[in-house]
Amino acid sequence: MRYISTRDTDLSLTGAQAIVRGLSAEGGLFVPERFPRVALDAIGELGQVDYEQRAARVLGLFLDEFSPGELRAMTGSAYRGKFESASPAPVVTLDGHTHVLELFHGPTCAFKDMALQLLPHLMIASKRRLGDEREVCILAATSGDTGKAALEGFRDVAGTRCVVFYPHGGVSPTQQLQMTTQRGGNVDVFAVRGNFDDTQRGVKRIFGDARTAARLAEVNCELSSANSINFGRLAPQIAYYFSAYADLVARGAIAAGEEIEFAVPTGNFGNILAGIYARWMGLPVKRFICCSNRNRILDDFLRTGVYDVRREFFKTSSPSMDILISSNLERLLFEMSGRDAGRVRGWMDQLMREGMYRVDDGTRERMDALLSSGWADDAAVADEIRRTWNEHGYLMDTHTAVAMRVMREYRERTCDRTPCVVVSTASPFKFSADVLRALTGAAPEDAFACADELERMSGLSMPRALRELKTLPVRHTGVVEPEGMERAVLDAVAKGEKK
Ligand SMILES: *Cc1c(COP(=O)(O)O)cnc(C)c1O
Repeated sequence: MRYISTRDTDLSLTGAQAIVRGLSAEGGLFVPERFPRVALDAIGELGQVDYEQRAARVLGLFLDEFSPGELRAMTGSAYRGKFESASPAPVVTLDGHTHVLELFHGPTCAFKDMALQLLPHLMIASKRRLGDEREVCILAATSGDTGKAALEGFRDVAGTRCVVFYPHGGVSPTQQLQMTTQRGGNVDVFAVRGNFDDTQRGVKRIFGDARTAARLAEVNCELSSANSINFGRLAPQIAYYFSAYADLVARGAIAAGEEIEFAVPTGNFGNILAGIYARWMGLPVKRFICCSNRNRILDDFLRTGVYDVRREFFKTSSPSMDILISSNLERLLFEMSGRDAGRVRGWMDQLMREGMYRVDDGTRERMDALLSSGWADDAAVADEIRRTWNEHGYLMDTHTAVAMRVMREYRERTCDRTPCVVVSTASPFKFSADVLRALTGAAPEDAFACADELERMSGLSMPRALRELKTLPVRHTGVVEPEGMERAVLDAVAKGEKK
């Protein structure tokens, strides 16, 4: 399989090159030159094997330069013993036509683990395939979730380091504890005196700085990023859509070949796009429901064909979806425009220059046929958490509740009763204060007190990974000025060298 760019279809890279480079030089995103087909029989067979094998089979269709054995070893390292559930991606049935795909049983209790547990292994294997033996140093600025998931994914993976910066006082107390208590001999975490923009700007500056790159090269190290536009993060996510379908067929909830729907809480459009890729590979999906919070730029875009970032930004109870620029949308536009790289480049340039673009009618009609959309504000989210708990005894987090609410309203509006899988992206215990407040109308100040109360009320246990935060020693106390970020990276790498 070769890879082209959404802004240059003449490119032709291997999967390993696409993963190591991350982003194409002209700014486009790497996409497969075609979508491999998966026959219904093969989907059914996935129901007979474990998740590690399901993921290896799906990955093998895109990364055929690796042998099935190599891929199997990678998915084993990524998923075995790292998830608190029997399968990394179990499907829970609420009623005859409503299911939940739980993607939050990994080490950081959010769906990003599904990709970030596997990415380090894909990256190391890709570098080796390209004859590049340098150590890779993953650099990330985080507003909370991604940094922690990267730290957990890369920790103690030979040949890698991971340095994460977060804004001082700019993440939730739980997220801060998750990062300051991070274990691993190859990881470093720093708070930056500044907000998220300062932090992100600092990381971008380091990536663009030739002097830092040269200093790192002296110690045989190069920088890389783990952000969600890397094809190595998208590919692992495709697997769980197939896995969910295979599970539903295996337990008789749907017939083989029957069409289903997925409702996906969406921010950067990475999660839902992986499902759309699965459909283009032959998974029987009738529609995807794209679910936004109050930052409803995607819902507006899908309804009007106009993408306009010149709007107010809201902080919501589903912070991982508080995004105005959905970077993975470019991959959808590429396919929906009939793979017209020139048009995609035009839209993206206009977005940079003017803060908006409008797609043509043909592109819009094709998106209409594939996707429905909607949005839910914080009050609707709280109401949905309470309703779903009362109706089904099922407890969900604020992000998942956005999708459940939008799906409920979609059903009321359309009378569509196609079986639907709501994709659940975080543990309710990761957002215990909001969840508890939704159920009882009040919540204590302290996050652990909220979690204790939630455990008592629901009879569920808090994930071990969150429970242990209370007793884990704090290991990372460094606070740096934005100007000190380069120095921090160089010192972290030098310290690693000495070990
Ligand atoms: C990142 C994230 C999302 C949004 O996923 P995208 O791939 O960016 O659309 C939703 N929920 C949670 C909990 C997340 O961490």
